[in-house]
Amino acid sequence: MTTNDEFLNEFHWVMDVLQNIDVGLVVLDSNFNVRLWNSFMQNHSARQPSDVLGNKIFDLFPELPEAWFRRKAQSVMVLGNSAFTTWEQRPFLFRFRNYRPVTGRAAFMYQNSTIIPLTDTRGKVAHICIILYDVTEIATNRMQLQRANHQLHIISRTDGLTGLLNRKTWEDSLQHEFRRFTRYHHTCSMIMFDIDHFKRVNDGYGHPAGDEVIRKAAEVVKACLRETDVAGRYGGEEFAIILVDTDAQGALVLAERLRQTIEATTVYYEDHVINFTISLGVAELTTRMSEPTLWIDSADRGLYRAKRAGRNRAFIYEPE
Ligand code: GH3
Ligand code: MG
Ligand code: MG
Repeated sequence: MTTNDEFLNEFHWVMDVLQNIDVGLVVLDSNFNVRLWNSFMQNHSARQPSDVLGNKIFDLFPELPEAWFRRKAQSVMVLGNSAFTTWEQRPFLFRFRNYRPVTGRAAFMYQNSTIIPLTDTRGKVAHICIILYDVTEIATNRMQLQRANHQLHIISRTDGLTGLLNRKTWEDSLQHEFRRFTRYHHTCSMIMFDIDHFKRVNDGYGHPAGDEVIRKAAEVVKACLRETDVAGRYGGEEFAIILVDTDAQGALVLAERLRQTIEATTVYYEDHVINFTISLGVAELTTRMSEPTLWIDSADRGLYRAKRAGRNRAFIYEPE
């Protein structure tokens, strides 16, 4: 065999490899005309080499963002460096449908891509090659994991029954607000409330009915609060709310609104028609409170006074 034959053989092998490799290969000339289109590209685009060779890539695939791609390709040609794009930056270059059964939920193929410079025999870059990787499985797994983590984060912060912050997270917010107060001395108040005679609800209608009452109370809280207010389920049927930029009088207005709204609310559970009331304590944060628990204690005392005074009322804690 002559050297020429050997060379041709090797060339054929290389072409076979390029054709059959499980990544997309596209060679473009400096006018962005397609010069090579391997079988991966052919299979996923359903376009034969005869349809695409010699045509401008942007005419063939309008979804390819032209300005972005030109800039990228230009730098590859001029600087002679490769350029890498991940699915996180851009989900795909070519909109190929995703057929893989395992990742059947993704509508299209997620792609990573590299653009590499191709030099001619004189060392000049006149062509570029796009190497396209199908990363649909990696991408969908990663996104599922991210969604699950996000859900877990929310679940770990909230109370399952009411959807309000759980006690731990609410106390973290309390710490945060307290520290902010020691620096800036902005006005800030707290409401603590407890459902009146709740044991009677449980005893009279059953624990699930009690749960429904707790849920309803939380619903009223959510409907009455501003975006910046921080409401949490502090205990069984006790709730705590931090109101930023609100003095004691302002907090009392909200406390009264909560009290009246709940008094006017009816819970229907199975055959039962349940009405209930709450008692509330209000305390404004002051510089005399050296730690957050003293702030809670103050609101608690207001609440205790409301209970003693006959329940279904709201009191501001006033130091003696
Ligand atoms: P008061 O007006 O003095 O507050 O009377 P009360 O009967 O409401 O007394 P208290 O606040 O001490 O009652 C709390 C009751 O709440 C006791 C407990 O069995 C019940 N409880 C606590 N957590 C839950 C819960 O998640 N679901 C239900 N259904 N009941 C709960
Ligand atoms: Mg209680
Ligand atoms: Mg109670």
